[in-house]
Amino acid sequence: YYNDDTIVFHDGKWLKAGEAKASLYDQTLHYGNGVFEGIRSYKNVNGCNIFKAKEHYDRLQYSAEKMHVNLSYSTEELINITYELLDRNNLRDAYIRPVVYSGPYMGLTPAEETHVFIAAWEWAKYLGTNPLHVMVSSYQRPNPKSCHVEAKVVGHYTNSILATTEAKRLGYDEGLLLDMHGNVAEGSGANFFFEKEGTLYTPPAGNILPGITRSTVIELARELDIRVVEKHFTVDEVYGADNAFFTGTAVEIAPIASLNGEKFKGNWEDSAGHNIYLMYRQKVKFNEYQGLTIV
Ligand code: PMP
Repeated sequence: YYNDDTIVFHDGKWLKAGEAKASLYDQTLHYGNGVFEGIRSYKNVNGCNIFKAKEHYDRLQYSAEKMHVNLSYSTEELINITYELLDRNNLRDAYIRPVVYSGPYMGLTPAEETHVFIAAWEWAKYLGTNPLHVMVSSYQRPNPKSCHVEAKVVGHYTNSILATTEAKRLGYDEGLLLDMHGNVAEGSGANFFFEKEGTLYTPPAGNILPGITRSTVIELARELDIRVVEKHFTVDEVYGADNAFFTGTAVEIAPIASLNGEKFKGNWEDSAGHNIYLMYRQKVKFNEYQGLTIV
């Protein structure tokens, strides 16, 4: 993620990654109350474009507000800082990781002191490019009545680590987590879609992190006249689907080969012959989507 030359943003300063310091007494380290984002930038003719920068930083603001973590930078400021970060590190195709974490404090009320750290590095598709073998996790996503599951909170990712570790130990690539009612929710770091007879299905907001890639796929599908249905469904409804895939900033669009060993057809095209994955890549690459551009 970094080497001797990597520059990071830390509380208003540009520092070498190895020299930026946090405290062992930070509340986020002990209790997990911090918020973060995962963002990507893509190279274009003008330099690069941070994909849906505003949406990501607005979600960071939302997460911070929900968790009472003070964030004193505006979305616009954070976007400008991030373009400067990419520039200082000479990065174009990059993964960007902003974290707002709480300072030294052992109480269970919000820490007064908070910090902003932003780093970026080159990162290939997080789950690779091969279609994934997925298992239904024995871990459920956190109950939205016990946390803000729709916010991107540091502590929530212990659930994700459990699910992915379980899946890998059992020989799968990734887990698919159910919600507290037993309906399909999402992956450990990605949203879930399946396609049957040309219609895309994905769980509605409520028990998931409503991903920005997820909304992009929905937007693109609608432009292509592909029907998208947001509804609750069980694992049984997923078996027999033509295709399934995860969506997320880090994984981008990750095809799923099988669920609990049951294979999908996996032809990656709906009945009208649209390849959602290629459409998405094209849109992102050619920068037709909103976001800022270095000119
Ligand atoms: N669900 C979870 C639990 C995630 O961590 C992520 C990654 N942020 C997603 C879904 C996908 O969200 P996005 O498309 O905004 O990256």
